[in-house]
Amino acid sequence: MCNCQEFKANGKCKFHNKDGSLTRYAFACGYQELTELPKTRIRTKLFWDSCCYAVIQYDDKEGKRLCWETFTRLKDARKFYKESLKNC
Ligand SMILES: [Zn+2]
Repeated sequence: MCNCQEFKANGKCKFHNKDGSLTRYAFACGYQELTELPKTRIRTKLFWDSCCYAVIQYDDKEGKRLCWETFTRLKDARKFYKESLKNC
């Protein structure tokens, strides 16, 4: 969720959507969405990579990268991000 001052004051902020996810503006500013699963130590992130949205997943226990996919549309990247979390 968003804890920004701006959000507390106005009920909205330019970095976060209502559900707490990042806006396009936030991605353009270099913000990343990151999910780390303590049990499996699988780390998944979604970010804007200069020309496209990228989803990267690492297995920190094995020390290897599981996937690296790029998307033109944020919608598709989010979908993939969600899907890839299901498999961990
Ligand atoms: Zn915010």
